[in-house]
Amino acid sequence: MVLLLAILVAETGLDLLPPLITKHIIDDVLIPTANFPLLVWLVAGLFGLRVLAWGTAVGRRWVGAWVGFRAIEKMRADLYRALMYLPLRFYDKRKVGALISRMSNDSDLVEIYLIFDIPYIVSNGLMVVGILGVLGYMSWELTLWVLLPVPPIVVASTLIWNRMEAYWVRWSAKWSRLTSHLNESIRGIRVVKAFAQEQREGQRFDRRNIDLRDVSVSAERHWIVFWMVTNFFMSSGVFFVWYFGGRKVLGESLTPGALMAFITYVWMLYQPLKWFGDFYGFMMRAYAGAERIFEVMDARSEPFQDPAATPMPQLRGQVEFEDAFFGYDPGKPVLRGASLSVRPGEMIGLVGKSGAGKSTLIHLLCRFYDVTRGSLQIDGVDIRNIRLEDLRSQIGLVAQQSFLFDGTIAENIAYGKPGVKFDDVLRASYAANAHEFVIAKADGYDMQVGEQGNKLSGGEKQRIAIARAILHDPRILILDEATSSLDTPTEAKIQQAIARLVEGRTTFAIAHRLSTLRSADRLVVLDAGRIVEVGTHEELMAQQGFFYKLVKTQQESSAMTVSKELES
Ligand code: ADP
Repeated sequence: MVLLLAILVAETGLDLLPPLITKHIIDDVLIPTANFPLLVWLVAGLFGLRVLAWGTAVGRRWVGAWVGFRAIEKMRADLYRALMYLPLRFYDKRKVGALISRMSNDSDLVEIYLIFDIPYIVSNGLMVVGILGVLGYMSWELTLWVLLPVPPIVVASTLIWNRMEAYWVRWSAKWSRLTSHLNESIRGIRVVKAFAQEQREGQRFDRRNIDLRDVSVSAERHWIVFWMVTNFFMSSGVFFVWYFGGRKVLGESLTPGALMAFITYVWMLYQPLKWFGDFYGFMMRAYAGAERIFEVMDARSEPFQDPAATPMPQLRGQVEFEDAFFGYDPGKPVLRGASLSVRPGEMIGLVGKSGAGKSTLIHLLCRFYDVTRGSLQIDGVDIRNIRLEDLRSQIGLVAQQSFLFDGTIAENIAYGKPGVKFDDVLRASYAANAHEFVIAKADGYDMQVGEQGNKLSGGEKQRIAIARAILHDPRILILDEATSSLDTPTEAKIQQAIARLVEGRTTFAIAHRLSTLRSADRLVVLDAGRIVEVGTHEELMAQQGFFYKLVKTQQESSAMTVSKELES
């Protein structure tokens, strides 16, 4: 940074000298017309200065590139960390595309600003001050004429800038709408194609694209008008200098060389001033970008670093919900006073209509969200006081949509435990009934699964997810509809794998098909955010209450599907 500043000062000084030499050439060589050796010296001096100025310009870019890009690299890394550590609540309210646009577009803007503009602020600022100094020294009278257009320009700029700012804000909003759309339609490309909606998506994209274009055009037009007008006024100072300076030369109070130098300086003065105008526009955009970046950076991240938290490296797995209330939106409670006590190693089946709050209960257990009233304790400690890292590393999740990362099968199984021995990966894969299908693949464990694992079937992905959970060896296990929508032989294999996985762990299982929950120690029935029944399958059937009705409706509807299938 210091080096950069030193270079900038040197560069400005070097740029300021040539007109002084030109002045001497005119006044001391060309007008008295007899001093050839002085001409040679002066031209040599000019050339020397040019070479030095060129050298410093190269040096500044060279050093500037490193300083700028390093700052950006750091900013991008910080932004990514911030995104990773943000609580889910942050993501509930935002679109993925808009977040990605922050990472790319906004950080690009800040990037250009940091690399290319910050050094110029200093160099152009120095330039303006330097030139005004020299001008004032040469003739303060003429300098006043040069500065005459400045006050009206300042007034005009302040007026127009507020409008421009509004345009930049609209511009970036349109831009993030466009990226959101792009992101969504590419992620959902299979659905788009399956419903033959390419044309409609194209039209929706066009609308957003045209919106963006319109805002860009309006912003640019405003800017051009402003820029051309100020430019014209600014350069009108030169006419005054020619006129009044010319009169001085005729009256012999100024030499022609001094007038030439003066005019050269005035033109030189316009360059940085013009640049400041341009730069201001750019800065506004960069600030709009930076603001959105800081919104992410400043959002409260999850309390991973809380020094007051209790370290619990070895959970037993006893879970206690006590009159727990929770809602994603304040004023719209989803859980309304749930109380439940679970023994270590117990398997709980969560049952209830869709939207009853089953997944929400699980989200609280993973501490994706905190209860708003009541409490949730694990091994007798309030979950908010447990070290988050200890908690998360001992909770395993096998979800309905098993999410695999682009990489090999082995890497995906070892996701929660990077660097684990291959033997352990194999053992987990055996236990998950995955080994058989993995070795049937051409590359075996080295097979690339593709983005989100899309080169594998649903049942295969699930078994990899189960192997991942087995290897992770959590104390508390969550199975979220882990066996839905599979054919019977695959389901049997997965059931078997799950039975091995569940062994000895506190387990919460959500399944729509109630028959798959027979192995659960107790079933917990939720309705509209309340726990309405708790008991074994048999007990609840005998009670003939809520659960009984759920089972009956499900049997009837499946019987209807079967009979319909038979009829057709
Ligand atoms: P279940 O798993 O029993 O089907 P959930 O726990 O997923 O039900 O959802 C319970 C209620 O909470 C539903 O009404 C659902 O719309 C709402 N909900 C779930 N997730 C969110 C969220 N991220 N933001 C707002 N509301 C949500």
